[in-house]
Amino acid sequence: MQNNRNVVPMMTAIMRGVCNRCPHCGVGKLLISYLKPVAECAVCGEVLGTIRADDGPPWLTILIVGHILLPIIFTKSAATDWPQWLAMTIWVGLAIILMALILPRAKGLFIGVLWKNRQPA
Ligand SMILES: [Zn+2]
Repeated sequence: MQNNRNVVPMMTAIMRGVCNRCPHCGVGKLLISYLKPVAECAVCGEVLGTIRADDGPPWLTILIVGHILLPIIFTKSAATDWPQWLAMTIWVGLAIILMALILPRAKGLFIGVLWKNRQPA
């Protein structure tokens, strides 16, 4: 398949990455395991393993989870008198679940952006 990096719109590349799909063709898988990108797309052969998202995905995940959880924690903590062990179990457990769900999507988002913007080899 011919490289169509200039044809794929930025939002399409981002949404394909978020959906764990190759930003180039939108068909092949992007992540081979939880966070490891495939070396190259199984469908179109686009090289994806050299794109390094580095600290971007954890930064975005913390930003999103913090903005979701902190207002809930502050309002619930003021309105309830849960024992501290119960509150910590619920909030930390919820934070871990949210982070586990959002982190691979954030990585796909960053790989989509970096794929769209990188220079041709
Ligand atoms: Zn592909």
